Amino acid sequence: MATICSAAARRLEGKVALITGGASGIGECTARVLAQHGAKVVIADIQDELGQSAVHSIGPSNSSYVHCDVTNESHIKNAVNQTVSTHGTLDIMFNNAGIVDDFKPRIMDNEKADFERVLSVNLTGVFLGIKHAARVMVPVRSGSIISTASVASRVGAASTHAYCCSKHAVVGLTKSAAAELGQFGIRVNCLSPYAVGTPLATSYLGISKEELEIQSNLNANLKGVTLKAADIANAALYLASDEARYVSGQNLFIDGGFTVVNPIFNLFQYPDNP
Ligand code: NAD
Repeated sequence: MATICSAAARRLEGKVALITGGASGIGECTARVLAQHGAKVVIADIQDELGQSAVHSIGPSNSSYVHCDVTNESHIKNAVNQTVSTHGTLDIMFNNAGIVDDFKPRIMDNEKADFERVLSVNLTGVFLGIKHAARVMVPVRSGSIISTASVASRVGAASTHAYCCSKHAVVGLTKSAAAELGQFGIRVNCLSPYAVGTPLATSYLGISKEELEIQSNLNANLKGVTLKAADIANAALYLASDEARYVSGQNLFIDGGFTVVNPIFNLFQYPDNP
């Protein structure tokens, strides 16, 4: 977990952020990190109790909660409007809410309804988030829009068919929106994490957080470090901040090189390095 920052190190002083899927996992951790850096954060989620307890823990003076199902356009519209009416602006939109369907290795066993449900949250939800953030960012000609993709945005077989498609599509939408919104000074990027021990990942795999971390460390390219939600939150902080002021249209991988190495062809393994 990131530490509390000194005033000098607060990189988002005066900024306002809306975070979908902010009640749990990566979203909750990012809400905490952005608030520590001076942002007012609005957590948007469907888990109301968890969202309220995140606000309680982060601090009600710099965070608040709004019920928002990202598949419902009027919910997204309301979350954006509420953020602007409370704080006067929206500087950072983090489209992070996501789900995964049950893993069924044979495509012929996959149901259309499950496929569409995943696309509806992971892709349509991101589309609606970008659309309504743009509605309020274009007139002020600034903003940073970030969405959560995944290593499944680059490689197959890292998750389900539906999840893989949804995350590949987030990258396309990121590029497309970056191309349009650049003329208004609005940056659009996405983040692609490797496996992190959150409720989404542990319930998908049916294992504990500790077991997930052991398993993902075994499969990782980068050894000696365990990926945490805070690592993704820090990447979101970077993309949200002025340090990334010329970064747009990018898919930032937080994967320790996982997606750029095919271990079958890895000639660099030292025989004496266990
Ligand atoms: P999580 O389950 O802890 O958090 C996901 C949040 O999204 C939950 O709070 C959930 O209530 C919310 N949500 C789900 N459907 C929603 C909807 N219709 N409207 C609003 N909110 C909704 O899981 P997480 O791992 O923190 O997931 C965050 C993002 O990270 C997702 O987009 C996920 O695909 C992505 N991701 C996760 C991993 C991982 O290994 N955990 C890896 C790569 C990418």
